[in-house]
Amino acid sequence: MMDAIAIDDIAERQRRFFRTGATRDLAFRRRQLQAMRDMLASREDDVIEAMRHDLGRPAFEAFSSEIAVVTLEIDVALKRLAGWARPRRVGTPWLIFPGKSRIVPEPYGTALIIGPWNYPLLLLLAPAISALAAGNCAVIKPSELAPATSALVAEMIGRTFDPEVLAVVEGGIEPTQALLRQDFDYLFYTGSTRVGKIVMAEAAKHLTPVTLELGGKNPCIVAADADLKTAGRRIVWGKFYNAGQTCIAPDYVLVERSVEKTLLDAIGEALSDFYGTDPVQSPDYARIVNEHHFDRLETFLERGRAVHGGQTSREQRYIAPTVLSGIGWDDPVMADEIFGPILPVIPFDDLDTEIAALQARPKPLALYAFTADKARADKILETLSSGGAAINDVFAQFINMELPFGGVGASGMGAYHGKVGFETFSHMRAVVRRSTRIDPSLKYPPYKMPLRLLKRLVPWMM
Ligand code: NAD
Repeated sequence: MMDAIAIDDIAERQRRFFRTGATRDLAFRRRQLQAMRDMLASREDDVIEAMRHDLGRPAFEAFSSEIAVVTLEIDVALKRLAGWARPRRVGTPWLIFPGKSRIVPEPYGTALIIGPWNYPLLLLLAPAISALAAGNCAVIKPSELAPATSALVAEMIGRTFDPEVLAVVEGGIEPTQALLRQDFDYLFYTGSTRVGKIVMAEAAKHLTPVTLELGGKNPCIVAADADLKTAGRRIVWGKFYNAGQTCIAPDYVLVERSVEKTLLDAIGEALSDFYGTDPVQSPDYARIVNEHHFDRLETFLERGRAVHGGQTSREQRYIAPTVLSGIGWDDPVMADEIFGPILPVIPFDDLDTEIAALQARPKPLALYAFTADKARADKILETLSSGGAAINDVFAQFINMELPFGGVGASGMGAYHGKVGFETFSHMRAVVRRSTRIDPSLKYPPYKMPLRLLKRLVPWMM
């Protein structure tokens, strides 16, 4: 773990390096991105092993959601960087004629990126790619709760990058607070809403702009007209991927009462197709990150009825994929984001009543609805806000690099992925270049133009 002096030193070295202007060169940025790509390609097995250690993560999931997505993010940036970084010419009003107006993306400088434990590589490196592509230097702080991945990230980045450009600081609250005391130019935080508030308060002391990628309780509405078999498979996949420890997982299902039983059957079928009759034996099912979270989740099983699953083993940090019925809004499992493999399925009779109840709750990171009726889907999308949304699927809004990924309200602010990530780490600077060939005196005092004439001219001039 780095001490405060080492943190001061690394932050100062990055500030100094940024001032040399080296990161403004697009070829320099491309070299960093390519180095990251090569680093990952050569260490795939180590990444998979670290995730297995930290989260019992199946190799398929570690590869697809961490290595593959990060590589995709790099490839998109390498291919499109020149276009993103190009100044954009915009119109120039008569008032400042002759002149040329441009929006020039400029890097902020140094960025601090703080990550959580659940996707411990992806949620650090994807923002780091956007930061580097935009010409920033960055310090990344992995979560101490995924120690094997944290150590691996520190080792890989340490070998691959000059610390002036990209550095890793490991550890928990103390080093994070030491980092937050530094005067970074941008702060990108992924984690809980509770800590997000602490981070934003620290950022306010330096007026550092922030992106907060937080959590939330993501509703999944299933209407009677939905394709229930497909809905069951997609919900089970999204909920139990990484054992439910996914910020965009469907947190709970609201199902139209007339099809509750059919949906529960479809979910049961998907569960046994995916994980077999005894999921503890399945190589494709992850574990809970630590005992603290295991204990927190286990208490949720005290209420309601486990229609599927319900088995636990503290020793193995295993909680079977569990579907709970008989749950109401007052049960503890409905208070906060579940963040584990427990899926309450709650029947409803009237969609409008459900929408009104959801409108009164904090805005979630994701909203899912399964319905064959376009008008119903539109109504859900128009009446309920969320960071992102998918109709008849889960996670689809995350996977598309053309779409911004981020929260709203309690689930966060700001977004990234692809071009939006580049823009997040860029200051969009307004630049006007003027000629001195002519300089009409109309705008200068003493003001000679009658107000009546000015009022007529203004709409034409601006
Ligand atoms: P967390 O907030 O406990 O920790 C996140 C980071 O903050 C860690 O690096 C940790 O070391 C640091 N931290 C913790 N306490 C701190 C403090 N008092 N001061 C300064 N830094 C502190 O979050 P977590 O448990 O690692 O992650 C789970 C949460 O993250 C869930 O709410 C989940 O929904 C959310 N999440 C959001 C996204 C997203 O993209 N929006 C993605 C993954 C996870």
